[in-house]
Amino acid sequence: MVTLCGWVHRRRDHGGIVFIDLRDRYGLTQIVSDPEKFADAHKQMDTVRPEFVLQIEGVVNARPKGQENANLTTGKIEVDVQKVTILNPAKTPPFEIDGDKEVGEELRLKYRYLDLRRERMKKNLVLRHKVIKYIRDFMDKENFLEVETPILIKGTPEGSREYLVPSRLYPGTFYVLPQSPQQLKQLLMVAGFDRYFQIARCFRDEDQRGDRQPEFTQLDVEMSFVREEDVMAVNEKLLIELVKKFAPQKKIQKTPFPVLTYEETMNLYGSDKPDIRFDLPLSDITDIAADCGFGVFKSVVEAGGVVKALKVDGGAKFTRKETDEFEEAAKIYGAKGLAYVVIEDELKSPIVKFFKKEEMDEILERVGAEKGDIVFFVAAGFEVACTALGAVRLAVGKKMALIDENLFAFTWVHDFPMFEVDKESGKLNAVHHPFTSPKDSKEFLENPKGATALGYDIVLNGSEIGGGSVRIHDSAVQAKVFEILEISKEDAERRFGHMLEAFQYGAPPHAGIAWGLDRLVMIFADEPNIREVIAFPKDSKAKDLMLGAPSVMPAEQLEELHVKIDLKDKR
Ligand code: ASP
Repeated sequence: MVTLCGWVHRRRDHGGIVFIDLRDRYGLTQIVSDPEKFADAHKQMDTVRPEFVLQIEGVVNARPKGQENANLTTGKIEVDVQKVTILNPAKTPPFEIDGDKEVGEELRLKYRYLDLRRERMKKNLVLRHKVIKYIRDFMDKENFLEVETPILIKGTPEGSREYLVPSRLYPGTFYVLPQSPQQLKQLLMVAGFDRYFQIARCFRDEDQRGDRQPEFTQLDVEMSFVREEDVMAVNEKLLIELVKKFAPQKKIQKTPFPVLTYEETMNLYGSDKPDIRFDLPLSDITDIAADCGFGVFKSVVEAGGVVKALKVDGGAKFTRKETDEFEEAAKIYGAKGLAYVVIEDELKSPIVKFFKKEEMDEILERVGAEKGDIVFFVAAGFEVACTALGAVRLAVGKKMALIDENLFAFTWVHDFPMFEVDKESGKLNAVHHPFTSPKDSKEFLENPKGATALGYDIVLNGSEIGGGSVRIHDSAVQAKVFEILEISKEDAERRFGHMLEAFQYGAPPHAGIAWGLDRLVMIFADEPNIREVIAFPKDSKAKDLMLGAPSVMPAEQLEELHVKIDLKDKR
């Protein structure tokens, strides 16, 4: 006799004999109810419907010959039911739990507890658990200590808007939810815990773009007495092990992972998160364009810009519609247009007439173009020219099926600039975050704005999956960074005084990194967005459709928190 508990997954009636697939976390078991054998049990079985919760007592038998199901681990057996207890009936679910039918996401998120009953979601959550467990075991073996850091903190600047929590005890004051445990992990280094990690929840109140979530999970890491290479090495080792374990069908393109500088990757691939599964590098023709007959190119170079070229082997066959699509891709990144030359018996191009023959010959030789190829050009400031043509490179790669989907191409990108100009305010922003060390402190103090940072990102197949930096541990350098970011002394003192002070009590040199864990699990699960690997995600507009959050709060509660709501202009 066995006792099984679970949900009715499917029910079939075969001429009086009722078959049920009973589902639990571990899978399905076929239950057979024969009216001739156990009439009482059968009566009960006749009334059950999908998603009823049952307790079954019965005897395990081999399935009759020819009725085995090789796709199920329990496919060789069935349970002859003798007693049925209906533990709970169920309403008809708003969508089918069995099968892989597409269900609208709104419905899935509203009834997430039902969605999670489905095989796909169950598999993803099991995978997530296993990945995290593997990471914990690995980090433990490598002598890292997992330390929990608080969720109610004071702000930490990572460039996003923060979630605030009003304090009841201290009227008019707020806690901030961490964008990451950045400051706390650095303070743990000051405390002497030289190898820290945490599976950490982070909160960022950003406008929802793509598949970001207001809260997400990082593998957060910090190490003392290390250089950039040491952080890279241990992370690389873990990533390689994870791929072997959780995506064994994928081939890692190259180990050790290639390391590109920011400038190299921008110049070659037109992106700071290059997809290097395929080659198709960009070329630079700025020097030739500087004195060419084509005024558009020339004036861009005179204004300090660059001209980038992309030669595509066999690209002469692109249709007009295709080149228009590539141009659209370039325009998204700010290019005014996408010039091209098609190399056939003659050159076909709206711009060729502006060039002397030798100039065009030199360009074609530089990019290695031959008959049957096309060369695209973007002339603009460095970043726009690179990223716009980088977008064309990706679009061409997809169009020409140059991407090997079985590859995992990891790259490190490092030597980022310390600062970038904020497009809206014109002020300088930290490219990584304000705790990132300059590569050369002396040079930085002399020419802070042009400084290179000791920051690095880990990129997989064109997505950034993590990033980190060597940190500043000298309070004078830290103060200078705040000054460049136009954070006044008083402001810096008020917001980060604890960091500046801590650095005066013997701060070790330290460095760290954080990975977006949801994104990594998503890639291993072969899912298109991170919501598929998070048990209870917000929707794409930051709402929890199941709980109905965010929601209006009772007046007394707001009063207690000293919060007054003013919805003028909002309704
Ligand atoms: N706190 C950083 C982030 O969330 C990562 C790091 O620098 O360690 O991107």
